[in-house]
Amino acid sequence: MNLPIRVRLTAWYAALLALIIIALGAFLVLQLRTDLRETIDTEVLAAVDLMSGSFDDEDDSKEDFSDVARTILPHSGAAAQVQSSAGKVQMTYGEVAQLGPLGSDEDRAAALRGDSRLYTARLGDDDYRMSVTPISVGDSQRVLVVAESLDRAEESVERVLVLLLLAGPVALGATALAGYWLAGKALRPVERMTSNAREISIDRLHQRVAVPRSADELGRLAVTLNAMLARLELGVREKHRLIADASHELRTPLAVMRAELDVSLRDPALPVDARDVLESAREEVDRMSRTVDNLLTLAQVDEGRLELLITQVSLPEVIEGVVRPLRPLASARGVHLEVEAPDARSQADPQRLHQALTNLLENALKFTPRGGTVRVTGWQRGDEVGVTVRDDGPGIPPEARRHLFDRFYRVDSARGRDVGGSGLGLAICREIAAAHGGHVWVESEEGRGSAFSLALPAERALLPA
Ligand code: ADP
Repeated sequence: MNLPIRVRLTAWYAALLALIIIALGAFLVLQLRTDLRETIDTEVLAAVDLMSGSFDDEDDSKEDFSDVARTILPHSGAAAQVQSSAGKVQMTYGEVAQLGPLGSDEDRAAALRGDSRLYTARLGDDDYRMSVTPISVGDSQRVLVVAESLDRAEESVERVLVLLLLAGPVALGATALAGYWLAGKALRPVERMTSNAREISIDRLHQRVAVPRSADELGRLAVTLNAMLARLELGVREKHRLIADASHELRTPLAVMRAELDVSLRDPALPVDARDVLESAREEVDRMSRTVDNLLTLAQVDEGRLELLITQVSLPEVIEGVVRPLRPLASARGVHLEVEAPDARSQADPQRLHQALTNLLENALKFTPRGGTVRVTGWQRGDEVGVTVRDDGPGIPPEARRHLFDRFYRVDSARGRDVGGSGLGLAICREIAAAHGGHVWVESEEGRGSAFSLALPAERALLPA
């Protein structure tokens, strides 16, 4: 079953409590019934004692018998009879005693033999505890029968049973609710840890889950998770170092290859086939260089040594610098590229800005279908200068937008595999924008396209972040 722990705990708790209430209730009811019966037996035996004492010497009148019996047995369900040794009713007290002789002939005979009895018998509609005892009145032997209804005891037992049946479920419901609340309270640190852990992506490994104040199992779990995150962070940092070193090493051979390809392409005697091959190789080398630059930039960000060479930049120049090298890619993909760049200026590192905007434009070209349009628009609003790259691509689902600028994040791997990519481009854009004191964001409508914007503060002397 996939029910939440909270619900399962409450269900177990309620089931166990229900069992305990039922067992305790049954025990209580049975014990109460036994006790009440014993009390009635004691009353009957005491009444027999007192009444037989009152007959000792003389033959009492019927009225006296009634008075004595009423004093000793005041309950409505009580009855008493004096019968002759032959079974003739001589004196009576109580309602059921009017119906005829109480007790059977055998009981009377046994009593006359000295064998007194206390037993349960049905008289009228009720069960009675009856005692048949021999008594001597003057010289004659008689039998005293005392009966007391069990009705009183049964009523008390029923009252308790009804109370238990009413109060039991109420108590059960109340404690189950309290249990549900308590379980929720106890599991709240787990919820917190889960949402913390959900927030921690590969480039937020410095974050930690909240450690509950109590040093219990949950506290230990949080500490263990944090220790694991620390080990992961260390491992990732070492990987960054490796990437930084490797990309640094790759830059020079790539630059040499690019220069050699340029030189070869300058030869007018180059056959057309060879020129095509060399041009395609140059594009691939350019792409590889951009990837290596991205990797190096990220590694520098991670090591806190992303340096910006801030100068004054003109927006149309930067945009033109980004668009020009990608025009061949756009036409190869059959995508219209439109540019609009008003004259605006900012303080920025032109190379980094170029790198970030290239990533945005490359993505837009990658995701726009043949025949679609990509618009690169420069703008200035208030004290911000920015560039927006708008495409006719598939758009980005809302739940993916939060993580889009995280490292290695790809909206869905199937889509990414089609068009290649490492999930680093947008992370670089974010880092570069942040280093300039600016920001990046996306607006998108699924199925209609996306618009990525990068904004920098306008005309303000900036220092590297
Ligand atoms: P990649 O190298 O995979 O392009 P990015 O960080 O540049 O990495 O982009 C991350 C993911 O965001 C991409 O894999 C893609 O799924 C999505 N994405 C980026 N730009 C666009 C866009 N213009 N249209 C649709 N999806 C995009």
